[in-house]
Amino acid sequence: MRMDVDTLIAGATIITVDTERRVITDGAIAIRGDRIVAIGKRADIAAEYTARDTIDGRRFVATPGFVNGHVHLTETLLKGFMPEALPFDEALMRWVIPLYEGNSPADQAIAARLAVLSMLKTGTTCFLEAGTLLAFEAVTDAIADTGIRGRVGTWAQDRAFSPGDDQTALTDKALRALEAALARYPADGRLIAAWPLLIGHNTNTDALWQGAKALADSHGAGISAHMSPVQNDPDWYLANTGRRPVEHLASLGVLGPNVSLVHMVHTDASEVALLAETGSNVVHCPGAALKGGYGSSRVGMFPEMAAAGVNLVLGTDGGDNHDMMKVATLMAGLFKDARRDTSLFPAHRAIEMATVNGARAMGLQDEIGQLAVGMKADIVLHDADRPEWRPLHNAVNQLVWSADGRGVHSVWVDGVRVVDDYRCTTIDEDALYAAAQVAADGLVRRSGLPTMSAWPIS
Ligand SMILES: [Zn+2]
Repeated sequence: MRMDVDTLIAGATIITVDTERRVITDGAIAIRGDRIVAIGKRADIAAEYTARDTIDGRRFVATPGFVNGHVHLTETLLKGFMPEALPFDEALMRWVIPLYEGNSPADQAIAARLAVLSMLKTGTTCFLEAGTLLAFEAVTDAIADTGIRGRVGTWAQDRAFSPGDDQTALTDKALRALEAALARYPADGRLIAAWPLLIGHNTNTDALWQGAKALADSHGAGISAHMSPVQNDPDWYLANTGRRPVEHLASLGVLGPNVSLVHMVHTDASEVALLAETGSNVVHCPGAALKGGYGSSRVGMFPEMAAAGVNLVLGTDGGDNHDMMKVATLMAGLFKDARRDTSLFPAHRAIEMATVNGARAMGLQDEIGQLAVGMKADIVLHDADRPEWRPLHNAVNQLVWSADGRGVHSVWVDGVRVVDDYRCTTIDEDALYAAAQVAADGLVRRSGLPTMSAWPIS
């Protein structure tokens, strides 16, 4: 007996990233509601299912939606404005923080919608946010109707840096904000839910780490925190705790499979072992590392982490770019070059980092990250009728080494087609571009910061 489905994508080359890592030529995917109900050879699937809507897939390479393990939703209005040649601390103190503080809730909402649009149109269907410093609810509400899946949070910090600060009060306030976010946006089946997200570095006390971990554990949620992009964090932890950052966090009992540490460029072998032992996730943001001069290719122990079994995830970080395919290309190349070893991070490993590994870090490994029966229908169709995809020999290699997110033709999240023929169906793109320009111009004007350009702008 034939079964009815909503959508049948028929004839595509499918990179499933399923448990057998099958690549299916002339394949088909049947979608009912929010789930994949069948996947396999087109002839087999087409014989069994009748679809309300059949899509001729012969022009497409299908992949799971990408998972962005670290993104700042509200930094998109500043892309291109920050000068390149700045030390980490100066970039943060003179540029990033003042510009952040100039944002209105409306600016933040526009920035977040632009980030989501940028992700959806390049095939990212799920993200873990870094945390929203300002206007958390305005931002979260602004992306609720975009159709993307994500975990968001207030960006908690509590360390008393000024002598007059009351440490206990600061920690209590930060914990209350994390609890309020979890209560306001519970993981109740909606696409967007809150996690207790920490800024990390040295901004969180041990009490906040332990409180956030307890909240994450009791809510089935996770934590993310920045750590060790540059040498400052190991230096600070060694001076103040006598231990390296990961050693200190391990001693607090706050590591684990629901914890994602972001950057982790300046680590040592003992930290790698602890990350593996505790099942913690590491999110590498190669684009941010390259632009920020973090030294990831020189000192980063990512090949050692992979060998030790650490779950490695990819992220895009700031507002410059949200194309996970670009990030995957960087990941596949950085350590081949740095170590002069072409066996490091082959294309299929980079794709795993952008899909199944990201899903695991978010506790969604049984729902997303692979195209398989029972999984959520989070699907990307890459347009093979483009120069970077023809001739089509090996879709896995070409996904990483030839293509990028600009070839994304269609995207489904939860069975809903959110990108169709290169256009987002949930966001008015032209209106958003216009609003983003107005908001960004106002932000720059209010900041009083100069436009730095190597070349004269007339
Ligand atoms: Zn970040």
